[in-house]
Amino acid sequence: MVYKREELSDEKEKEVLSKLQDILGKKNVSIKEIDKLSYSKDYWPIALRWTLEGKVAALPDFVVWPESTEQVSQILVLANAEEIPVVPFGEGSGVLGGAVPVKGGIVVDMKKMGTISEINKENLTVTVQPGINGMNLERALNSKGYTMGHIPQSLYCSTLGGWLACRAAGQFSTKYGKIDDMVISLEAVLPQGEIIKSKTVPKSSTGPRIDKLLLGAEGTLGIITECTLKIWPYPEERALHSYAFSKLPHGLEAIRHILKKGVYPAVVRLYDTVETSRHFYETKKAKGKCMLILVMEGDKEVVRLEEKVAETVCTENGISCGEGPVTHWVATRFNVKETSEFTPKDVIFDTIEVSVMWDNALELYDSMIAAMSSVKGVIMASAHASHFYPQGVCFYFTFGGIPIEVTPNDFYTAVWDAAMKSCITAGGSISHHHGIGIMRSEWLHKELGESFEVLKKIKKVLDPNNIMNPGKMGL
Ligand SMILES: Cc1cc2nc3c(=O)[nH]c(=O)nc-3n(C[C@H](O)[C@H](O)[C@H](O)COP(=O)(O)OP(=O)(O)OC[C@H]3O[C@@H](n4cnc5c(N)ncnc54)[C@H](O)[C@@H]3O)c2cc1C
Repeated sequence: MVYKREELSDEKEKEVLSKLQDILGKKNVSIKEIDKLSYSKDYWPIALRWTLEGKVAALPDFVVWPESTEQVSQILVLANAEEIPVVPFGEGSGVLGGAVPVKGGIVVDMKKMGTISEINKENLTVTVQPGINGMNLERALNSKGYTMGHIPQSLYCSTLGGWLACRAAGQFSTKYGKIDDMVISLEAVLPQGEIIKSKTVPKSSTGPRIDKLLLGAEGTLGIITECTLKIWPYPEERALHSYAFSKLPHGLEAIRHILKKGVYPAVVRLYDTVETSRHFYETKKAKGKCMLILVMEGDKEVVRLEEKVAETVCTENGISCGEGPVTHWVATRFNVKETSEFTPKDVIFDTIEVSVMWDNALELYDSMIAAMSSVKGVIMASAHASHFYPQGVCFYFTFGGIPIEVTPNDFYTAVWDAAMKSCITAGGSISHHHGIGIMRSEWLHKELGESFEVLKKIKKVLDPNNIMNPGKMGL
């Protein structure tokens, strides 16, 4: 076991098991080894490597599946009384160790709380419990003629709760926003069992939004149990376009201008030359260039106008490559074959997403590529920009390499450290949508400055026994 801790005594285990069974019924509580093992890690590459090395990251003492908000509340009251850690769990697709039960305790799997209670066509909202699988939510909306517009690459293997807890971003975010932009109201259970619920209104001016503390808290401040979110009519029209630019700055400038004109394509992805040759090698026109792909969607007339604006701006410095590259992206956008192909071969490979304002964007891109490439053993470092705002951009870096004279995990950490350091120096935010988990914990105080001390105080007040997802986010 990698994360060692004090084991519960047999007597304590029996006592807590019986209390959990009273709350949840026998079928919704497990202490089976196979269940504990299933919840021992998430999709954090370091934990995946431990598995390959025959190591277990950490084991919970109990796995539970609540079916109501009241049950979640009772679990937290019990956990507080017994001072036992609690780790909320969606589908374990987090990539930074956020759901690893490093101090054991109760893993609260939210999948049995996945009911859609209302799709309100007049208000354009959906009210839904957080354990719902992303694809199931989107399909349910599509069947009624709507979309959430939140399509992360992990759509098939993540839950709404995980998205909210990590402030996730989908591939269509330039039009629809990040998940935190979509939240209208939410219900959550705070660490000591209090149930809070915000009012479902479009906007208000009634003091700070306490419910929003739960967004991005990665389960350290409570468990989200229901949410009302914005939805959109399913797009009537979709247009696919791609352009190749000889230089990255030309592509970035084109996108900045499109957004400045008030045009928000749903998908905007600009690949540097390395990633263009990796993903679009069949497009001859893009050889040695930077590929930009755009998907505009919505009302037919609006889409026609958006296409026109994009075409005018993009052909100033770029050349049109047609629909082909976008069709290729659409067909392959959920593939993550590199991880399963390379990791067992001892090639270390990961992605790091950060955000930055426009006036620092190129400096950040150059310095992060240089920083990652400077680590001994790194073979490639590249990026694409995949989420855009009138004020700035999210870069999504990929690095790969072979450890030389160090362990794979030390190599991995060295590249991450170099990347985080250069990101902060260049004025970027260390995470745009994956969150903090364990991997970025030690960098959060540098990111937040004095606000990190305030966050620690809030945590202390809400969770005096530090039961909620301890060991994450540096809390
Ligand atoms: C192949 C792949 C592609 C990905 N693509 C994207 C992408 O496009 N965009 C993106 O943003 N992310 C992406 N991710 C990262 C990951 O999918 C997201 O972080 C996602 O939000 C995690 O959801 P989950 O349900 O699996 O949560 P988990 O991994 O189970 O949990 C993540 C964190 O949320 C907490 N949590 C879970 N449910 C609740 C709840 N109800 N209340 C409070 N806390 C809770 C957990 O304790 C943990 O800290 C990707 C991951 C993979 C493996």
